[in-house]
Amino acid sequence: MKTIVSCYPKPLEVVRPYAPERGPRLHEYKIEAAPPDGYKTLDVGDAWELVYRQERGWVWELIPEDEVASDLVGHWNSGRVGQVSGFGPGIFVKDPDRFDEQLEAARQSQEDWFNFLYEQGEDADKLGQRSNITDEMREAARWLGKKPKWLEPARQELTKECPFCGSEIPRRATVCKVCLRDIDTGATPKKAK
Ligand SMILES: [Zn+2]
Repeated sequence: MKTIVSCYPKPLEVVRPYAPERGPRLHEYKIEAAPPDGYKTLDVGDAWELVYRQERGWVWELIPEDEVASDLVGHWNSGRVGQVSGFGPGIFVKDPDRFDEQLEAARQSQEDWFNFLYEQGEDADKLGQRSNITDEMREAARWLGKKPKWLEPARQELTKECPFCGSEIPRRATVCKVCLRDIDTGATPKKAK
């Protein structure tokens, strides 16, 4: 068995075209969200994959646990916004001989990465580009214990659509300024005589 360790504060999931047992063609590997000052683990063993070989047709082939573990860790580490070499999410394959050292390095790497993401969020906010702030940036701010004003997604839009004429009107309006109907009842105002 190999143990994958995650300091990442969100659940990690991925479906792979191999499985711990022969039979299922796909398997979902998951690690729970890690608490802010801790980690979660996933044990993985060898896995089976059904592959086509020209001379033999479809055959089950064994993927060694080392390859399974590094494939999953590679997947969970790649494609992250702003990730550059040297830091990223704290996810790694446990080496029992130097686990403490690995864990510390992973937490530091993740902290550096989250600081980077947090700065991205701050910059977007300063430039008035709230729509560029991602959930990952918010997660980073939370994990760092920061409370920027962009921590929660923007409140509901300030407008709504009139159910009768489709015009954009203020969210709190009770009467549509375009078709003059009452938003709740659809009644039109009586003409003044
Ligand atoms: Zn209207």
